[in-house]
Amino acid sequence: MEKLIFNFKSSFSKTKTNPKHILGGKGANLAEMERLGLPVPPGFTISTKVCDLFYKNKKKLPKIITRLIKKEIHLIEKNTKKKFGDLKNPLLISVRSGARVSMPGMMDTILNLGLNDKTVLALEKKTLNPRFAKDSYRRFIQMYGNVVLGIKEYNFEEIIENYKLTKGVILDTDLDADDWEGLIKNFKDLIKGKTKKKFPQDVNEQLNGAISAVFLSWNTNRAKVYRKINQIPADWGTAVNVQAMVFGNMGNNCATGVVFTRNPSTGEKKFFGEYLINAQGEDVVAGNRTPRHITIKGRLDANVKELSMEETLPKVYLQLKKILNQLEKHYKDMQDVEFTVENNKLWMLQTRSGKRTSKSAVKISVDMVKEKLISKKEAILRIEPNTLDTLLHPTLDEKVKKEVIASGLPASPGAASGKIVFSADEAERLNNMMQDTILVRIETSPEDIHGMHAAKGILTSRGGMTSHAAVVARGMGRPCVSGTSQIDIDYKNKLFKTSEQIVKEGDIITIDGSSGKIILGEIPTVKPEISGDFSKVLGWADEFRKLKIRTNSETPLDTKTARDFGAEGIGLCRTEHMFFDEGRILHVRQMILSKTIADRNNALDKILPYQKNDFKEIFKIMSGLPVTVRLLDPPLHEFLPKSEKEIIEVANSLKLTEEEIKIRINELHEHNPMLGHRGCRLGISYPEIYEMQCRAIFEALVENKKQKIKSIIPEIMIPLISSEAEIRILKELVIKIANKVQKENNIKLDYLVGTMIELPRAAIRANDIAKHADFFSFGTNDLTQTTFGISRDDSGKFLNDYIENKIFEIDPFISIDKGVGELVALATEKGRKQNKKLKLGICGEHGGDPKSIHFCARIGLNYVSCSPFRIPIARLAAAQAALIKK
Ligand code: PEP
Ligand code: MG
Repeated sequence: MEKLIFNFKSSFSKTKTNPKHILGGKGANLAEMERLGLPVPPGFTISTKVCDLFYKNKKKLPKIITRLIKKEIHLIEKNTKKKFGDLKNPLLISVRSGARVSMPGMMDTILNLGLNDKTVLALEKKTLNPRFAKDSYRRFIQMYGNVVLGIKEYNFEEIIENYKLTKGVILDTDLDADDWEGLIKNFKDLIKGKTKKKFPQDVNEQLNGAISAVFLSWNTNRAKVYRKINQIPADWGTAVNVQAMVFGNMGNNCATGVVFTRNPSTGEKKFFGEYLINAQGEDVVAGNRTPRHITIKGRLDANVKELSMEETLPKVYLQLKKILNQLEKHYKDMQDVEFTVENNKLWMLQTRSGKRTSKSAVKISVDMVKEKLISKKEAILRIEPNTLDTLLHPTLDEKVKKEVIASGLPASPGAASGKIVFSADEAERLNNMMQDTILVRIETSPEDIHGMHAAKGILTSRGGMTSHAAVVARGMGRPCVSGTSQIDIDYKNKLFKTSEQIVKEGDIITIDGSSGKIILGEIPTVKPEISGDFSKVLGWADEFRKLKIRTNSETPLDTKTARDFGAEGIGLCRTEHMFFDEGRILHVRQMILSKTIADRNNALDKILPYQKNDFKEIFKIMSGLPVTVRLLDPPLHEFLPKSEKEIIEVANSLKLTEEEIKIRINELHEHNPMLGHRGCRLGISYPEIYEMQCRAIFEALVENKKQKIKSIIPEIMIPLISSEAEIRILKELVIKIANKVQKENNIKLDYLVGTMIELPRAAIRANDIAKHADFFSFGTNDLTQTTFGISRDDSGKFLNDYIENKIFEIDPFISIDKGVGELVALATEKGRKQNKKLKLGICGEHGGDPKSIHFCARIGLNYVSCSPFRIPIARLAAAQAALIKK
């Protein structure tokens, strides 16, 4: 039969499976510490497989498991020379959760199990310490009552606090054995009152109850939410560790503590930790006693008088120091360790890789390479790419208290505070007056771009992670929270409502685009510092990666940022974003509203110089590198005036009647614009628009060349192709204009023509399309939308339900879905077969997602393209992809 329970001393074949998958992180590391000969209290791990069996067995421990557990308890009894439930020398045990990855505070723990009304007396006799025995028993009742019997913790705390008040003491340590005796009685009464049952006295019943509770805690709401945020699959389950108790609360030569081998916030190579004399583990984190520093240096740096462990327990400290160094060398990583000192004897209760800030992660990796503890390759693999985000954006000051009023999707990282405004114009007006704003919209449209630029942050109540607001905000590096369905926006009265309050225009809020939180008032932010270590790590990443990293960018500012972050070209320049600036939009509207080709050409002539100048500027910044320019993609109605005021304005300047404009708007209205007259379909209907754009690109090249600016190689990209004929016709159009401009200027220009693959048909018929394309760029935003038939702009409303019901493990607009991935792989294979020189890249939002980057590396794309602020992340993820095949 498969082994389901593992003694810490039993050997585990690491070659077969990662021990953490079976034993959980805590169990695997306890066994490892035991193997290293460190002082670990005896115990065993009930494997994660049992968690599965438990749920399959109607949330009950199978009989076979209870039998195996009994056997293991006997082994602990032998080892400790104590007996479980014994009336002379009782064995007490701890029961702790331990999943594959640590989920701090998410699941349950029970200490001092095995105490009852009789064993507590035995413990008292044995230790000659009545206070300790009673204190341990009340802690057990409290934990068991809370975790297993479901009584809220505050009920117990209230009893203790009231008692302390009547006794006139402040600290728990001021209570003696008699006090605890009385409180134990009160606790038991509380339990009887709430559960109608007596507190269990049978130690085996206690043990089964505790183990079951730990398994059940895998599915508490908080654990589920944590798993969702951290993308931890629900089927991993948790292991349970059962271990002999050691006591840090038996007197003043006892202690308990937590220590990191390096500073988890800064990465500094100094022990960083806290301990408490005469206490048990939970006291350190509970906050009712202030823990003390581990080292003299630590307490001096913090200007604290209370003695450190190095001073109060010097011998034990030296032993601990040796073990910490040994553990760090062994695991080659910063460790987060829990220990207990029982009567001057040190016991190790846990070690794990310490959670750290990204700043600290980068510093520790670089330092460990310098210390020759790890290789560059290991350093690269250590850093979670997504966490680098926090190094690139301002973050909220963790020390400040916050009133969170709603949460949405963390669409674009960083934090920002400002007065709320409900229109782009107002954001711009206040920006001109040097006032910070948060632009609040139900959803944004390209017309809001100026306001999005002017605002410090963007908040929408609708739209997913690839909605307009999300994509544009990420591109701009603006913090954005999208799809906040908990707020109800009322444009008319200029306010939004949450379930509890009304927030009006002008009120100040803070949004945290990294967590999706909306907070009332202004919260100070901490500015990012891109240290030397950060660029060193990215430099190492560049040595390993095979994928090139480009950026999605259309403004000089974003392009400059991207190049500074290491972009190796532009993978997507969305030209329509250039149409919205003031001075141009009117001509764009004129072009759309024109009834004759002559009128349209007239308007296009006015737009041409603007586009050309934009291109010149961008090409200059990216000189020497490839730049993919996409011809006009979105449906034309997006550019049309919407409000009455705008319609009048346009009518006046175009010398048309309001009525004529309204008729045209009606004509252009589409029921499903995302599947309507957009992309190359516009080029087919109105070739003169694409002709103007091509002319702008080629003339920009010519003018830069004349000014001796090192050229770029333009890659002209035709969007939304689904058939061979479309690309054939439009490629001819590009070539025609290129030839014209070359002839007019007597200059030879290099350029490529290619397409986006963003429709399933295009992927399936990629061989046909590749006959006419120099490159493919996978537009996975639209490809995901069209493969699933799920609107990228509306999915925010129901995707959560899909994730909760485990239909999607993760939002397919964030991380590439298997089915969409198969289409990408198919098109890659078919395309390359047809055209060996075909260049392949991705420019959907997935281009900045580490998991999707692994996929792109695996199928052999040439590059990924992402928004400027994700470039460092993509560089690191691409290196990791080259180093491991996920
Ligand atoms: C895409 O569809 O993936 C893409 C990059 O184009 P857009 O987001 O502009 O539709
Ligand atoms: Mg698209």
